[in-house]
Amino acid sequence: MTFPIPTLRREHGQLMLEDCALADLAERFGTPTYIYSAAAMTANFGAYTQALSAIDALLCYAVKANSNLAVLSLFARLGAGFDIVSGGELSRVLAAGGSAERVVFSGVGKRRDEIVQAIEAGIRCFNVESVAELETVSQLASGLGRIAPVAFRVNPDVDAKTHPYISTGLRSNKFGVPIDDAFELYRRAAELPALAVSGIACHIGSQLLDPAPVAEAADRVLSLVDRLADAGIVLDHIDLGGGLGIRYQDESPPAIDDFLAPLVARMQGRRETLYLEPGRSLVGNAGLLLTRVELLKQGEEKSFAVVDAAMNDLARPALYDAYHQIEAVVENDLAARQYDVVGPICESGDFLARSRMLAIRPGDLVAVLSAGAYGMTMSSNYNSRPRAAEVLVRGREAFPARQRETVEDLMRGERPLPAA
Ligand SMILES: *Cc1c(COP(=O)(O)O)cnc(C)c1O
Repeated sequence: MTFPIPTLRREHGQLMLEDCALADLAERFGTPTYIYSAAAMTANFGAYTQALSAIDALLCYAVKANSNLAVLSLFARLGAGFDIVSGGELSRVLAAGGSAERVVFSGVGKRRDEIVQAIEAGIRCFNVESVAELETVSQLASGLGRIAPVAFRVNPDVDAKTHPYISTGLRSNKFGVPIDDAFELYRRAAELPALAVSGIACHIGSQLLDPAPVAEAADRVLSLVDRLADAGIVLDHIDLGGGLGIRYQDESPPAIDDFLAPLVARMQGRRETLYLEPGRSLVGNAGLLLTRVELLKQGEEKSFAVVDAAMNDLARPALYDAYHQIEAVVENDLAARQYDVVGPICESGDFLARSRMLAIRPGDLVAVLSAGAYGMTMSSNYNSRPRAAEVLVRGREAFPARQRETVEDLMRGERPLPAA
């Protein structure tokens, strides 16, 4: 069985991420814990920069995929920009040493205070998703005596052929402005003195396994950019979003350079800088969730392995019926049996995997692979469960990237109602 995480291997029966034995990490940090590989993240980032070396490009890591400060600082040091969707993410980027001049701000519902925070920080660009937002940004920038750089996020109406919850480029989605309206909107934006019309953006969806829809979206965007230039509205960048998929089970996503080749070909010889906003493809297969088997339970029709991680830690299986490969951390000579791997939460949707052959006993450790993206960032405190710890490994070093939450952390800011 091969692993989707390139820096994961088995040595003398023990799972190792880079040069750290997962069993040792469980001993040291407890479970459940997210473990990330710096080498895998660095290699993925390197594959993007390599594939883009022939053109002017800025890689804006999509912070929502994994927003731990250790991860953000690693990407900042590699020269990344950042794609944010909230003021909280902007604060994280700055706290991690990222620079505001490399930040683009996406999202359909930016609040006024978040817009002010971003203008004051001096971000690279607002990816504006509606006329209402355009007017708000203009008004707030003008009040601050600043010029806000803007791009419209256009909805190119292409089918990304991915899970409907993560498909964002269809006419029926809430995202962006219809591409057919964009020309008029740019003319309007160009007349607002507190705005600098700087680019155009689109992002058609996530976990894309086929490069064709992105290339098709690029063609629609480029033809609009050329029409705008003819009308005297010259853009300095074209942001084609993120979305490249990864292997969770038996998918075969294109390699990073194959995915980018059609985009690079289209950008060669053009004056605009290409921005990309990859998230999952940088971090998804650089991480796993380490959890311990609490007990094995024989139901009437199925056997269950109840583990100490749950849907509040990793929501993807419950939310999208997503598949994550599960591996026993230490190999043994038990006969494998079929289990549903479930958490202790009071919901039947609380499963991490279904019908998996595993050789495990109570107390054993298992690793839930491909959990580096949309894992910790989608976690919650449901059932008053403190969130997991996070560890970033780099060779033999295991850096404690986030302490496990305590129940006191969960109750901070609350108090019981006094007697009337
Ligand atoms: C989520 C998101 C991304 C990142 O998507 P991935 O599939 O993780 O690469 C990029 N841009 C925008 C606007 C997003 O909402």
